[in-house]
Order: sequence, then C-alpha cells, then structure tokens
Amino acid sequence: MNAVETLWSEAIVPYTISDELAHRWSEISAAFKMISDYTCIRFVQRTTEINYLKFLNGKGCASFVGCRGGDQPVYFSSTCSVGNLCHELIHALGLHHEHTREDRDHYVTVQWQSIMPGRTKNFKVKHGNTLNLPYDLNSIMHYGSYFFSQDGGPTVLPKQGGEQMGQRSHLSHLDIERLNRLYHCGITSLLHYCSFIYRFHVTIYVNI
Ligand SMILES: [Zn+2]
Repeated sequence: MNAVETLWSEAIVPYTISDELAHRWSEISAAFKMISDYTCIRFVQRTTEINYLKFLNGKGCASFVGCRGGDQPVYFSSTCSVGNLCHELIHALGLHHEHTREDRDHYVTVQWQSIMPGRTKNFKVKHGNTLNLPYDLNSIMHYGSYFFSQDGGPTVLPKQGGEQMGQRSHLSHLDIERLNRLYHCGITSLLHYCSFIYRFHVTIYVNI
C-alpha cells in the first residue's frame, strides 16, 4: 500500500452524516470499528473541527485519498457495503490501492486490454511510501481479479496465491500494521498534518 503525506491530526477523524444516511448509522459505525478495533485511529462526531469527513449518499462508493482540508465528502450509496465503506475510509486515511504500489509487477500482472475504458487510471502505479512492509494480496485495498473488467477477462492476475484477493470483509494483518505505522500509533512524532495547501493535490476514486 502506498501512502500520501496528508494525514489526520492526532489520528482523530471528525465526521458528519447527512440526514439521508441517518438510517445507515449502524453500517457506518461498523466500518469505523473495522479500523478502530485494531489501530489508534478514532472517528469522532464533528463539533467545530475545520477538517472532517462528510458522509453523503450518491455516486457509489468514493473517497479522496488523504486529508484534503475542510469538509471532505465520502460517498456511501445503497450499492456500498460496510466493507466497501471501510475501504473508502482507508483511502481517506491516506492510502492508495495496494495493487498500485511501485513493486506490484513482481506480484501481479495487470491485463490492460480487459480494463474498462476510463478505469485504467485505477491501475496505474502510484509513487508513495510503502512503510517498509511487504506486498499484500490480502489487503482490503487490493482489487479482485475481475474488478472493472470490460470483457469478462481478469484485469489483475496474481503471480502466486491470491485466494483472498479483493476481499472486503476485514483488514489484513498487514493493513493493520500499515495503518499503525502510518499514524505512528503509540509513538509521539511530528507528522505532515492536513492543511488547505493540499486541497489541489488529491486523487478521488469513484465507484470502488
Ligand atoms: Zn479504492
């Protein structure tokens, strides 16, 4: 997984939930718990914080990567599961997809010809900090073999293993380790915290 440098201050992520999603509070809460049970990251209802996540309906499942500055939408539509939302939250926490790591070609083969037009950007390598952790086919941030296929053929093929590739049910052991390292859980340290300066340097992933 590769990380951006715009993190949430003190590993605390304030949030608001739109009225139209009020009835899905238990699912949103379950997605928070998938992360907070294993890391020092905490999701708290916004009071006066400037930077916060705003859960909205519509546009499938989507999130910016990293803390963007100000109010930051996370889209949680009816097609989106708890596991999908957890995946989006990890984008918001600062992580790109695992299969876009610089070293991914050692572990997977991208079948460009099978990827839907307009989605190839979701498969392009991102240059980010891999936190000295090994490549992880089981990551909740990895795509499954047939994600965004236009012809029924695989878009990402593991070179070895990969039985759980594309799972959205839990954080892998390495996902947990990555988030704990990224947020320096248990360590006091100066990080590059979020500010408005970063607002124009972010990526948004739609429908994933
Ligand atoms: Zn994604």
